[in-house]
Amino acid sequence: MNNVVIIGSGCAGNTAAIYAARANLKPLVVAGHEPGGQLSITSMVENFPGFPVGVNGPDLVENMKQQAIHFGADYHDGTVMEADLSKRPFRLNIDGEWIETLTLIVATGASARWLNLPSEQRLIGHGVSSCATCDGFFYRDKEIMVIGGGDTAMEEANFLTRFGRRVTLVHRRDSFRASKIMVDRINANPKVELITNTVVEEVHDGPEGFVIGVTLKNIVTGETYRRDVDGLFIAIGHIPNTKPFVGQLDLDEEGYIISHGGARTNITGVFHAGDVQDKVYRQAVTAAGAGCMAAIEAERFLEAEGH
Ligand code: NDP
Repeated sequence: MNNVVIIGSGCAGNTAAIYAARANLKPLVVAGHEPGGQLSITSMVENFPGFPVGVNGPDLVENMKQQAIHFGADYHDGTVMEADLSKRPFRLNIDGEWIETLTLIVATGASARWLNLPSEQRLIGHGVSSCATCDGFFYRDKEIMVIGGGDTAMEEANFLTRFGRRVTLVHRRDSFRASKIMVDRINANPKVELITNTVVEEVHDGPEGFVIGVTLKNIVTGETYRRDVDGLFIAIGHIPNTKPFVGQLDLDEEGYIISHGGARTNITGVFHAGDVQDKVYRQAVTAAGAGCMAAIEAERFLEAEGH
């Protein structure tokens, strides 16, 4: 029987593990299908407090894991396929094997939605990014392209004009899902060029293995052409990793966990941490803070029960 199982090993899960381990709860962390979470696919992280000249993303998240292990957390490579939260102890199916736990911290994150072109996947972290806040800084005076037509794409395109020489926003339709105010802001920004009815067919890299351009296709005329680009930001949404909890945890229409205050979910003893509940901030530092909150809540909950 586990005191605390933490699902997910990104910033939120690892921080929850550090706190739960230091509270002597011997947490079990189920690493998940993207061990290390979003940080493991970034390069430099320059906005995590405490690192004056930045820190390598995969190193940061690995250090968190080692810190948790140092205090007694146990890591298990695997993915939760199914969860039974109908009664306590909660039961989790990890790759076919059922385990039990008194409390659960869901830190499964939200995965960036990608175009899923092989060339795009190969160049993630080498000019292809899903996070303008994280990586925009690296494209000072460069040619930047943003893909998407929702609020995130608008916000990221606007933000990236602080850095780029020009930002080209490419959307597959000619009307936008984004709110009018965000579209108006984009139209009013002289550094943004808008290309509609257009999709990315391929991402090209140069001899150094970094993005140098894309092939675009106008889906109305069928015309394909090449554009030089240094940074390609994919902003076509995120998918919260909540599949095993559908019908059990309260989720919003997009699948994100609905918080019931603090780190609490609708089920007593199940807590949330990080991007699986947060579609607004999505930062390493906010996820870490949320992991801390969830572990403190789990600890107090167990203590109140006399464990
Ligand atoms: P959305 O789901 O709103 O938009 C996704 C966009 O990506 C759509 O324009 C969609 O096109 C496009 N898209 C999806 N798949 C593909 C694909 N395979 N190829 C090309 N384009 C694709 O996601 P967002 O992340 O923009 O927003 C998520 C939520 O967060 C929304 O509720 C939004 O309002 C909110 N938000 C609010 C902000 C704010 O208020 N400041 C800032 C950021 C987000 P199509 O329209 O054709 O389907």
